[in-house]
Amino acid sequence: MTEVITAADVSAVDISGKARDILSRLGAGDPFVADGELVCTSPIDGSELGRLRADTAADVEAVVGRAQAAFLQWRTVPAPVRGQLVRELGELLREHKDDLGALVSIEAGKIVSEGLGEVQEMIDICDLAVGLSRQLHGLTIATERPGHRMMEQWLPLGVVGVISAFNFPVAVWSWNTALALVCGDAVVWKPSEKTLLTAIACQALLRQAAERVGAPVDVSQVLLGAAEVGGALVDDPRVPLISATGSTRMGKQVAPRVAARLGRTLLELGGNNAAIVAPSADLDLAVRGIVFSAVGTAGQRCTSLRRVIVHESIHDDLLARLQAAYATLPIGSPLEPGTLVGPLIDAAATTAFTAAVARATADGGTLVAGGDVADGVAGGQYVRPAIIDMPQQTDIVKAETFAPLLYVLAYRDLDEALELHNEVAQGLSSSIFTLNVREAETFMSAVGSDCGIANVNIGPSGAEIGGAFGGEKETGGGRESGSDAWRAYMRRTTNTVNYSSELPLAQGVEFG
Ligand code: NAD
Repeated sequence: MTEVITAADVSAVDISGKARDILSRLGAGDPFVADGELVCTSPIDGSELGRLRADTAADVEAVVGRAQAAFLQWRTVPAPVRGQLVRELGELLREHKDDLGALVSIEAGKIVSEGLGEVQEMIDICDLAVGLSRQLHGLTIATERPGHRMMEQWLPLGVVGVISAFNFPVAVWSWNTALALVCGDAVVWKPSEKTLLTAIACQALLRQAAERVGAPVDVSQVLLGAAEVGGALVDDPRVPLISATGSTRMGKQVAPRVAARLGRTLLELGGNNAAIVAPSADLDLAVRGIVFSAVGTAGQRCTSLRRVIVHESIHDDLLARLQAAYATLPIGSPLEPGTLVGPLIDAAATTAFTAAVARATADGGTLVAGGDVADGVAGGQYVRPAIIDMPQQTDIVKAETFAPLLYVLAYRDLDEALELHNEVAQGLSSSIFTLNVREAETFMSAVGSDCGIANVNIGPSGAEIGGAFGGEKETGGGRESGSDAWRAYMRRTTNTVNYSSELPLAQGVEFG
């Protein structure tokens, strides 16, 4: 039986001890060094969990070299056999779900259910990737030349550099790694400097999986450090693909550097997700969808709902219902059963939240819920989720504030709603609450939402792994997870085979 942290443990506040016990059970040993430059903290109470050594430019050089060597071996292993490594990883994740979920809660501040949900998402992508390992298919294409055959193949790409954000500390790695491994690639992961322990734990599990199935353990590597370490990975010409998840600011730094060496990027950047609430909407359902999407993970999801665009005829009714729902939200330690709003990741996040509230009210917005610092566990960053009724969509509304801050805007007709909806620079996720089929279909059509995800009668957050995940515009255009997202991790060759004794040329060209 794995040990799950309970409410009683929270009051004991030995979070550091719990983290150490979990790391040991997950096979990561004791990774801490007393004089390490990297300080691991828990957002629950701000306590130090331990210190780690930061990797240097020389470490990046060596780590990518090891990954490159492992890739040369791994690419020759048949894809269904590669799938066995991912299947074993999925098994280990099932076995250690409670522990890894608890570590996510300790390090990222997610409530217990969301920490476990993140590990479940890892298990789900492993299942998908194992099936995919027998389905990495190309095409056979009609050729104009007699006695010829033309086809496309998908082949392993190389070393994939994965840069990830703090708010999905383990799921984003697994989306990339499960697919990359079955595609025959090696992975070098630069996790967020705010969530290093979960990265060490994942790497320990993957290493065990590799040892169990006899795969080269170096196909998966971790680099610990801040943006400079990520930068060294970004600039390394041995890394053909950089899959980077984080802020648009980071994407704007990374993309031109990879482009300068003509490498590929897969970018999953910031969102500013909206829900349109139409006059026909089922308001009970809309309120539940809005509250989960706006407040879940304390508003720290890339897909968190940040703007509600509501028809003027139901504006007051919806606002009153949201106000009532927000008044009952349990805020506090994410380890307490019953808590729905845990801490923000750090003090800078609280500052950004309160500054955005001040700016929006200065712009004419009316604060109708929360917006201030809340009581929580001493040392942690707890805020009361805010709702601000805005007379118009000002610059602060168009910016992504990574906190539970929901703006409400009124609209007169669907054209105006869509205009407000698409007016922001980001294009990740979106939704409409309506029982009108014309509105629903228009929202998902070419003249509707300009986002990568467009939902009807559910909020914008909480995607499942079967669909391709990602967004347009400043969200970066990348797609991860299900559907055909695997293609980003492979290279395509077009092959033409002549099985005749003639040499006809394409386009009827005669030569000699
Ligand atoms: P962040 O941009 O501060 O950091 C993300 C990662 O990028 C970290 O590992 C960081 O060390 C690294 N990094 C930063 N600058 C870099 C550089 N110049 N070169 C190389 N690496 C660099 O983001 P965060 O605060 O950890 O996460 C929150 C942000 O991530 C939000 O904007 C959120 O919307 C976004 N996000 C997007 C998705 C998505 O799928 N679209 C998913 C999760 C988070």
